[in-house]
Amino acid sequence: MLHDLSKAPVGPASHLIDGLSQAASDGGTMDVISPLNGTRLTTMARGTVEDAEAAIAAARAAFDDGRWSGLAPAARKKILLKWADLIEAKAQELAVLGVRDNGTEIAMALKAEPLSAAGTIRYFAEAIDKIYGEIAPTAPGTLGLVHKEPVGVVGAIVPWNFPLMIGAWKLGPALAAGCTVVLKPAETASLTLLEIAKLALDAGLPPGVLNVVTGEGAVVGATIAESNAVDALVFTGSGATGRRLLEASARSNFKRVYLELGGKSPNVVFADAPDLDEAAKVSAYGIFRNSGQVCVAGSRLLVERSIHDAFVEKLKQVAETMVVGDPLNPETSAGAINSEAQLEQNLRFVAEARAAGRQIVTGGERILQETGGYYMAPTIVAGVSPEDAIAQEEVFGPVLAVIPFDSEDEAVAIANGTDFGLAAAVWTADLSRAHRMVRRIKAGVVHVNTYGGADVTVPLGGVKQSGNGHDKSLHAFDKFFDLKTAWIKL
Ligand code: ADP
Repeated sequence: MLHDLSKAPVGPASHLIDGLSQAASDGGTMDVISPLNGTRLTTMARGTVEDAEAAIAAARAAFDDGRWSGLAPAARKKILLKWADLIEAKAQELAVLGVRDNGTEIAMALKAEPLSAAGTIRYFAEAIDKIYGEIAPTAPGTLGLVHKEPVGVVGAIVPWNFPLMIGAWKLGPALAAGCTVVLKPAETASLTLLEIAKLALDAGLPPGVLNVVTGEGAVVGATIAESNAVDALVFTGSGATGRRLLEASARSNFKRVYLELGGKSPNVVFADAPDLDEAAKVSAYGIFRNSGQVCVAGSRLLVERSIHDAFVEKLKQVAETMVVGDPLNPETSAGAINSEAQLEQNLRFVAEARAAGRQIVTGGERILQETGGYYMAPTIVAGVSPEDAIAQEEVFGPVLAVIPFDSEDEAVAIANGTDFGLAAAVWTADLSRAHRMVRRIKAGVVHVNTYGGADVTVPLGGVKQSGNGHDKSLHAFDKFFDLKTAWIKL
């Protein structure tokens, strides 16, 4: 089954605008290159400004005529639950297509992509008919009602690492709340989002409620960001793009902008960690799964000096036993790097560290070049200074920077010493220290004696330059509701 799907031809992909598959207005296409072997998988529409404007107009009309927001929440719920079922029924097919498009290892893609997306959509669908407005405690003689109204047209701009999972984090609550959406997938991971958008139509989502425009961020994404007809932007991606979105909002209609901008997450291992073997194994997976192309990846390892050398040796052993290669092989523990450009960027960070005299404990190289695909060995760089680029910037590859520390205060200072604040972890058997560290580390999530666990019930969002707003959990709805007060004299 897996084998058949992995060889199946993939037809050219078009936009989905107003319920119809549409080519680019000028007929333009772009190649979809598979990172597994560097060859062309298919082509997709290269969106124009006109295409993005047509999608925005469709979403605006669909919102304004109430074809979706005017439905009872229970009716929206029914359609979204059906959509989740259709995604789940095609999970295998979607996972394989996604892997061929973006390179994530299949075992992770199955769980983290279609199945996670279906679960997220279900969570928000189930919630929407259980959310109430408020009656304010005003003085006698007046009635203050607080209504929650859908914010309107949402522009969702998403990245390539987990398109379905992250896409669903935006689409689930936005659509459940009654908003309409223009979705811009990443250039190198658009195919599965287009597929699930078509499934939404099959589930009964009215045309125009969810529109997908593929192509370049600087054209399609920028048009969405500049539009006066878009009421809110939800984004996951780089800080550079996040800044452009805020500027575009300021230049246009002050649309609300919610950004998830990645991290440089510290994973802090104290000498009294309950199980150093487990800590090494989980920490390795915390950076090397999906080849480090994970926004919450534990990319900085802070190790108490007394166990530094022994711990780095354990990590090295785990890294060297990981199976890197064909992501369609279920045994693979880390698949391909998404694109050649991303691979080159990863290698540049390592070259710079090497030139500065840092120790490459393992990896540091492109591997499996004969496949034509983009693969990199899990890489551990030790002796890193907290100020090095490799310890300050988000590499977004399988590259771990190791920094020793001597005290809790020093660990906190290093942990908080970047512009980011997305995720973190602390390994210690000392309960008080664990809670102290959770309070002292500036991050949206701090794991204790583990790395990377999560589900849809807990919010994900960053502080500092990792962004604002939250995906997942009921808090995610805040982005998609406006509050309206009705003040009534009795
Ligand atoms: P990454 O480094 O994760 O690729 P990007 O910020 O470049 O991060 O890309 C994330 C998403 O933002 C993609 O869908 C991309 O097409 C889109 N994007 C890139 N540049 C712009 C831009 N100038 N305006 C709007 N969207 C953009």
